[in-house]
Amino acid sequence: MFGPLILAAARSPRMRGLVTGVPLTRGVVDRFIAGEGLDDVLGAVRELTDAGLSVTLDHLGEDTVEAGQAAAARDAYLALFELLGSAGLAAGGDASLKLSALGQALDAGLALGHAQDICAAASEAGMTVTLDMEDHTTVDSTLETLGKLRGDFPWVGVAVQSMLRRTAGDLRDLAHEGSRVRLVKGAYAEPASVAYQDRASIDRAYVRDLRLLMEGDGHPMIGSHDPRIIEIALALASVTERPADTYEFQMLYGIRADEQRRLADAGQRMRVYVPYGADWYGYFMRRLAERPANLAFFLRSFVSR
Ligand SMILES: Cc1cc2nc3c(=O)[nH]c(=O)nc-3n(C[C@H](O)[C@H](O)[C@H](O)COP(=O)(O)OP(=O)(O)OC[C@H]3O[C@@H](n4cnc5c(N)ncnc54)[C@H](O)[C@@H]3O)c2cc1C
Repeated sequence: MFGPLILAAARSPRMRGLVTGVPLTRGVVDRFIAGEGLDDVLGAVRELTDAGLSVTLDHLGEDTVEAGQAAAARDAYLALFELLGSAGLAAGGDASLKLSALGQALDAGLALGHAQDICAAASEAGMTVTLDMEDHTTVDSTLETLGKLRGDFPWVGVAVQSMLRRTAGDLRDLAHEGSRVRLVKGAYAEPASVAYQDRASIDRAYVRDLRLLMEGDGHPMIGSHDPRIIEIALALASVTERPADTYEFQMLYGIRADEQRRLADAGQRMRVYVPYGADWYGYFMRRLAERPANLAFFLRSFVSR
């Protein structure tokens, strides 16, 4: 019931000021975000990789409206790769990019140029890159940018959202050999004209899309914490006789951490999405919207003060 309201608040500058201006928000935020600085992210990556998990790193930021900010987002990724490289933690890592942070809304060419720089640096470091998917108005331009990036960097991955009605069609083009595709339910408030609205329809669509990916030739990345989805993915892997290194599970930092380790210990590939940086507001609000218990926890932290 509160989900759509929270997602609307995620886009409100006034709410952003209110939420981020309260010092004790920090304690709740820390559950979902590795920290603001590069030292924090380095510590989180070390801990996860020591436990046998892989990572995809998200330098937080979105909806950039200035070219300078877009360049700064690119530079943040370049600095991250350098640091991971010198710490011996780069190999096998992945970076998650939001094209809106790289200036997609200002000029798709600008965002593409920054993404190319990031991919070139990732490649040098022995890492890969995955494009996050944002709200439905950005899907066409994100897939177009993906196509251009894959010309030089065929390993670039992309997220697709089962809640969008178009996704099964997009997957028919994406599920080819070598194609890295992260399947998620979708975290944005979308109109009924383009997206399934109720949980059961979204879950059904997820299973249909998952089957397309697992039966295809690409590299499926199963981005979900849902126990039923994980069971179904394991069953599909078994039926399609997919070796464990041809697909992977992905979960968000701080969510079902025990399950992340359990799957890794059971021989599954598990990659944790690790967000870091100062611009955590939009990401944090989407995590609150996903689960009423998170909102209750957040509100309780004010009351118990
Ligand atoms: C690696 C990864 C990358 C993602 N990238 C994108 C992207 O690019 N674009 C996009 O739109 N969305 C993205 N998402 C978010 C996704 O769309 C969903 O909003 C989110 O994963 C919740 O859906 P679920 O599949 O976990 O299932 P749900 O049915 O929402 O949750 C299943 C169970 O997981 C646990 N859980 C789920 N969310 C939370 C939470 N916030 N806090 C605590 N417990 C929780 C609960 O136990 C819950 O019962 C990503 C998710 C993951 C895991």
